[in-house]
Amino acid sequence: GRRGVPSLLADGGTGQEEHIASDVTQLIGWTPLIELKRIAGKEGVGARIVGKIEAYQPLCSVKDRSALRMIEDAEEKGLISPGVTTLVEPTSGNLGLDPTLGFPGITDKVEQLKKELPNVHVLDQFSNPANPDAHIRWTGPEIWKDTAGKVDIFVAGSGSGGTVSGVGKYLKMQNPNVKIICVEPAESPVISGGEPGKHKIQGIGPGFLPEILDTSVIDETVTVTTEDAMTNARRLAMEEGLLVGISSGANLAACLKVAAREENKGKMIVTMFPSGGERYMNSDLFATVREECIAMTF
Ligand code: PMP
Repeated sequence: GRRGVPSLLADGGTGQEEHIASDVTQLIGWTPLIELKRIAGKEGVGARIVGKIEAYQPLCSVKDRSALRMIEDAEEKGLISPGVTTLVEPTSGNLGLDPTLGFPGITDKVEQLKKELPNVHVLDQFSNPANPDAHIRWTGPEIWKDTAGKVDIFVAGSGSGGTVSGVGKYLKMQNPNVKIICVEPAESPVISGGEPGKHKIQGIGPGFLPEILDTSVIDETVTVTTEDAMTNARRLAMEEGLLVGISSGANLAACLKVAAREENKGKMIVTMFPSGGERYMNSDLFATVREECIAMTF
């Protein structure tokens, strides 16, 4: 595990040592990797596609490590203290769960709460270097170790940009030839130089360029439509048995494009499945499934 709690998956379960986390933060990190052999096989792509399943986290998403690192960092700097500070955070993804306002609404709400509540601190994932630092310290090394250094290409959607910037930086430090591919919504291709727009890939494509997004480590940006993201998320559930969120589908769509390239034959592509599918039961992702379930109930 992240801080010395041996992973239950990695350890053979010898029964010789206790495997008990001393608090919930000890369970953060070391999410499992899975190769998508069924989908890659059906598509006939030459590259291996490997997903990192972030639903295996205490709060079920890729944001657990960032939250922990930003809080640790603010505590180390004496900016916040338990029982005194109220943390307020603008988020459209999994750092918090408030999808209804959208972005300027979220920023206005943060300003309002700053006035209303005493001792408010905003960690600000979009400008806080502790956010990508979580992925330099933990997510990147996890991928490097679990692939035995064989990762050739890393593909990740960008919300705050923490994952792609942090993992990208770490992997390039290990092997400068690793390619880093960023994924964003085709309807809001801001990193690709286009205009912000409405889309339904929750957690990526905030419509602006975050301060912490490190474009120097990104070799290529791939755009994916909301429709393709949803289709591919359903594919992961139906064909691989992985109930994951919409941005996971976007990452898979991008991986399939990259994996089909002749030059990537035999290469290992690692991507993130940032959240679990339960969180999107009320979204368009499961609209058809939901209607069928309701029809079956009566
Ligand atoms: N997918 C989902 C579902 C998310 O919640 C987030 C975080 N906003 C991301 C992808 C992107 O992660 P990051 O903020 O590290 O770019």
